[in-house]
Amino acid sequence: MTYPVSRRSLFALTAGLGATTLFSGNALAREPKLGTQSPYFHRFMLGDAEVTVVSDGPLPLGNPKGTFTGASDDEIKKMLTDNFLNPDNIVLEQNSPVVNTGDKLVLFDTGMGTARTFGPTTGRQQKSMAEAGIKPEDIDAVVFTHAHIDHIGGVVDGSGKVLFPNAQYYIAQSDFDYWTDEGRMSGPLKEFVVHARKNLLPVRDRLVFYRDGQEFLPGIQALAAPGHTVGHHIFMISSGDKSFAFLGDLTHHQILLMERPRMEFSYDTDPKQAAESRVRMLDMLAANKIMVMSYHYPWPGLGHVVKSGEGFHYLPQPMQMLL
Ligand SMILES: [Zn+2]
Repeated sequence: MTYPVSRRSLFALTAGLGATTLFSGNALAREPKLGTQSPYFHRFMLGDAEVTVVSDGPLPLGNPKGTFTGASDDEIKKMLTDNFLNPDNIVLEQNSPVVNTGDKLVLFDTGMGTARTFGPTTGRQQKSMAEAGIKPEDIDAVVFTHAHIDHIGGVVDGSGKVLFPNAQYYIAQSDFDYWTDEGRMSGPLKEFVVHARKNLLPVRDRLVFYRDGQEFLPGIQALAAPGHTVGHHIFMISSGDKSFAFLGDLTHHQILLMERPRMEFSYDTDPKQAAESRVRMLDMLAANKIMVMSYHYPWPGLGHVVKSGEGFHYLPQPMQMLL
């Protein structure tokens, strides 16, 4: 291919302008690389409510083999490479909405906290909140989708101090009972139980158990979507005539568990039930054209779901940088 401007004419142009104008002073100096990234929060309006997505940082799951099952290794590799994703390391985001309804400041899920089960890149939720100008002591309600380590981990700090001292905490009772059960300490997900106990028991007397279908806070309704865990819920969040669904862990991957929603995920307590919930809820969200935010989808996790072939397709929402 040819470029409209030849190197020769570019050279003539710069020579004609003269070295003193183009190449004087700092233009010749090598700039140090800055090595910093933009803050890890994103804000948007939902009716009268202000929503700030804060990140707990990327969570690398590693090779999908054994974690995502129900398709061959080659099929999984092709789905990932066809979408320009690394087939050897699945990296999930951790997107938590903080909803300011005008009356209440409500945080959904708290990240990994001090747990390093998935490496050093997680555990930045407090930092992201500070970048967003949100004070942990101003949070009125902390709502958990379920009691897994990457959702309840940030309730306490390393010394066991509760980081949201003025909040009520909301979870399904079945999930609280299951993951704080000492009897499960000998199981394969021992670390999950250790961290559920470490984070949830200190706020036991401030826990409120929501129920399926209940609007337990103004504009916030719980919908049971069990399987990933026994008490996993998603939430419809509404203000005025606007709403979105916070999906928690209904689907962990924007390609694998959308194109093939009946594939299974090894961290599911009941993978078959999780797949049933996933298909049922995604059908409902697609049919009603409801905006979604997914905890583990590419930052900041906002988009829509449409039916496609045997499964679904996720359409990320363009980031609006004006409020
Ligand atoms: Zn998760």
